[in-house]
Amino acid sequence: MIHLDAAATTPVRREVLEAMWPHLTGEFGNPSSHHALGDAAARALAGARRTVAEWFGCRPAEVVFTSGGTEGANLAVKGLALGSPRGRHAVLSAVEHPAVVESVDHLRRLHGFDVTVVPVDGTGLVDPAAFADALRADTTLATVMLANNEIGTVQPVAELAAVAHERGVPFHTDAVQAAGWLDLRLDVLGADAVSISGHKLGAPKGIGAVAVRGRHPLEPVLHGGGQERGRRSGTENVAFAVGLARAVELAEPARTDAAARTTALRDDFIVEVLRRVDGAVLTGHPDARLPSVASFCFPGTSGEAVLLGLEERGVIVSSGSACAAGSDDPSPVLLALGLDPAVAQTAVRFTFTPATTAPDLAAAATALEATLASLATLR
Ligand code: PLP
Repeated sequence: MIHLDAAATTPVRREVLEAMWPHLTGEFGNPSSHHALGDAAARALAGARRTVAEWFGCRPAEVVFTSGGTEGANLAVKGLALGSPRGRHAVLSAVEHPAVVESVDHLRRLHGFDVTVVPVDGTGLVDPAAFADALRADTTLATVMLANNEIGTVQPVAELAAVAHERGVPFHTDAVQAAGWLDLRLDVLGADAVSISGHKLGAPKGIGAVAVRGRHPLEPVLHGGGQERGRRSGTENVAFAVGLARAVELAEPARTDAAARTTALRDDFIVEVLRRVDGAVLTGHPDARLPSVASFCFPGTSGEAVLLGLEERGVIVSSGSACAAGSDDPSPVLLALGLDPAVAQTAVRFTFTPATTAPDLAAAATALEATLASLATLR
């Protein structure tokens, strides 16, 4: 089987599991306990926090461990928006993940926020001028993802964050898909808050982190015992935090090389697909895209049928966003690009890890051609 659905999830790396194991077994303490077992857990958690903070280029106290990208987006979006006394207005892009979209919608429904959605162009890029126009004196939060999970388009986040800051607006970026591919340091991104998820990076599902600049008041989403400096109550998931830190230690030194190698493979794959498949449409930006994402529409087919045909031939892909699985509606992200709904229904996404190889992609291109040929004979 060739797994080309890394944007949905990745397997846990062996080194990550080995780092976690002691904290699930012998050293199983609660970091809040006042005895040796608790102290050992607190030390392990502090070590994991230091590693993740170094990755974000922030202070350890600015890192909050979460249960994943969805919780991180909820905490950053609701926490910053409700923590600020400026007003009740939030700004987001038209291509955000549901974790952000629904968090903002919660602010609208339950807290009376006004919401402005900034459109994107046909490649999925937010225009900084349109973004600037959306900001108001009462805007308490702007949120624009770093890289899109369906089309891979990478936003000019540093530029957008600078515009937000000129207007005194805190800026969050959902960096879940960018982790392991792009530099996530807060000062490079210019962001006040960055959220990520472990399972896109070789750590388990159910762990993530959000880095939030300490100067910003953050209203918690989870209330309770006051863990994570009161920003996220609940007994800390020490083993998984250690696993996330180990995944970061493995990924970060290899990031630049992995990105260059995978970008080259991706570009060859895109050329090959466009050469072999008549009428194939590349979605997203040709250059400002993640190394790991090649996404297409194949007009006249159905994304689901292509997915199943590829699976029969041993290639695992996604026909849209796994996070919105179960929905037959065309993807709101693809509609935001201005694609015809019938074309948007034909989307197929191929996503890679640093371990993806040229033979994997050659086999995938062959399987795709065979799948589309067999679907054409069925029509
Ligand atoms: N944000 C983006 C861009 C994603 O792609 C995902 C998951 O695919 C999430 C947020 C949610 O992350 P999690 O699955 O850890 O809740």
